[in-house]
Amino acid sequence: MLAGTTDGELHGSDATRCLIAPGFATLAGMTSIIPPPASPSLPIIGSDLRFPIRRVFCIGRNYAEHAREMGASVDKSAPMFFCKPADAVVSDGADVPYPQATADLHHEVEMVVALGSGGSDLTPEQAGALVWGYGVGLDLTRRDLQAQAKAKGHPWDVAKAFDHSAPVSALRPASERTPDAATVLRLSVNGQLRQQTRLGEMVHSVPEIIAALSRLFALKPGDLIFTGTPAGVAALQRGDRFDAELEGMARLQGKIV
Ligand code: MN
Repeated sequence: MLAGTTDGELHGSDATRCLIAPGFATLAGMTSIIPPPASPSLPIIGSDLRFPIRRVFCIGRNYAEHAREMGASVDKSAPMFFCKPADAVVSDGADVPYPQATADLHHEVEMVVALGSGGSDLTPEQAGALVWGYGVGLDLTRRDLQAQAKAKGHPWDVAKAFDHSAPVSALRPASERTPDAATVLRLSVNGQLRQQTRLGEMVHSVPEIIAALSRLFALKPGDLIFTGTPAGVAALQRGDRFDAELEGMARLQGKIV
């Protein structure tokens, strides 16, 4: 039985079989006034099953060098979170359209953690057990809109939560392999290295991030967490090819179009 399942049972229709129950109830048996929205999901390395996505949480300023390059400082006692909608996830290496309303689209390569179970008010010791798998993703950012939001004290939604703002790789089950402090996270654009770090440079560890989120939200199976980006964020242009890697765990290649 794969980690994260409680009964080994598969959920969903034959067309999109999922390892855990999809995060949102389906409209099966009901008549809806508009076509029901598609249920976002990610492929799983070594499996035909999909991982259904419920929510996407992100932590900011989780690598000190990146916080410095943004002119911010790290507050270890107060992790900073924001969210993206589940349907912002781009899966299966699909092309990423250059978004509207920006002239400064930035890449932020990040380890992505997928939760197979949930909980509230967890300790870091309890929180680690929620992890079902790992991937690598890009927290795409409209940096010009973020700068405007910061200057005005406005929320970050328009900078972070736009359509196609979260390309994510296929997931590696934690039952198969887990990263450690020496695991390398990197991003190349058009064959040139842009960002590289070891996970040991994270300010808040994965169990600490999950525990902190669980004190703010009831976490559930299907939740994804972007765990922060190292230094080296920079602009992407139409035609750029990105190659993101969580060494030995997951890889994401794609193109901005
Ligand atoms: Mn980020």
